[in-house]
Amino acid sequence: GLLLAVETSCDETSVAIVEGGRRVLANCVSSQMETHERFGGVVPEIASRKHVESITRIVEEAISKAGIRPSDLSAVAVTQGPGLIGSLLVGAAAAKALSLALDVPLIGVHHIAGHIYANALVAELQYPAVALVVSGGHTELVLLESEGKFRRIGQTRDDAAGEAYDKVGRALGLPYPGGPHIDRLAHEAEEEIPMPRAWLEPDSYDFSFSGLKSAVLAALNQARMKGQTLNPAHVARGFQESVIEVLVAKALRAASEYGAKQLLLAGGVAANRGLRAALKSACEAAGLPLIVPPFEYCTDNAAMIAAAAHLKWKRGRTTPLEMKSEPMLSLEKWAEDLA
Ligand code: ATP
Ligand code: MG
Ligand code: FE
Repeated sequence: GLLLAVETSCDETSVAIVEGGRRVLANCVSSQMETHERFGGVVPEIASRKHVESITRIVEEAISKAGIRPSDLSAVAVTQGPGLIGSLLVGAAAAKALSLALDVPLIGVHHIAGHIYANALVAELQYPAVALVVSGGHTELVLLESEGKFRRIGQTRDDAAGEAYDKVGRALGLPYPGGPHIDRLAHEAEEEIPMPRAWLEPDSYDFSFSGLKSAVLAALNQARMKGQTLNPAHVARGFQESVIEVLVAKALRAASEYGAKQLLLAGGVAANRGLRAALKSACEAAGLPLIVPPFEYCTDNAAMIAAAAHLKWKRGRTTPLEMKSEPMLSLEKWAEDLA
């Protein structure tokens, strides 16, 4: 099947054309990063207006880049949730209009299923697999017992990893989003300021990053009160080491406990160089195959939405045109008809 997918859950307007859930013919992304940068975060009202302004152009761009005719399409996929409601609605309206005009089925997609199935764009997935999802809004360990069968075995109890990166970035006076800047600073640092690790209960696959964030803020404040300034690179390094050590240890323990054949990495924080390197060496030591999508499939993009939609399309599962966008859509509920 040839699928056109639309992703507008947050601040990226993206349209992709993917064949057979695997071959990406086009993956066009228009980021609003510069618009939101001066507010230090995504402003929902502005995000949805920007989606309205760009969506038609991005659809046309994707179709022309892929060199297909709209009548070649088998289905139109769109992110149903989770995400910002105003942003989701713009993508849904565009996808419904295309589905109606072309007389092809609509397929609503769970955004995190998309992040996870970005891995299917670059590798043949083998089950059971464990996915480490680290994004701006989510930090989860997901067990895939078989294709499309998702079970969340751990999640963050407070901040998501990306959220912690962005908050610490702001405290260090770095531009938004802070993640990539902290990554760079941590790389340059020759020393680190040690930070605590949040392991939680010994058998827990859950995460917590708010204590770490508070520890960073406390260290910065204490230094300020003493009239000193901490080297931001040393702070970034200490923070990043703590995040990575916990993520890697829990992901590897989950993979071993559930007999995973592969470890999948997903979400925007998967772009982190330190995390990639640490996972790579830990997986090599454990003899566990690690799949890491290229950068453009880690951050928000529509190609990953097409990859997840393909699971439904293959099984003849489509979504009625009355589909409701759901800011809190549950992964398990979305995947019910895949098992
Ligand atoms: P969700 O997918 O949970 O709805 P989102 O779509 O906003 O959230 P993504 O676009 O997947 O999140 O990821 C964005 C996050 O990734 C931001 O918090 C950003 O700081 C972080 N990020 C991007 N690159 C890096 C990096 N190199 N190191 C650490 N974090 C990074
Ligand atoms: Mg984003
Ligand atoms: Fe995302």
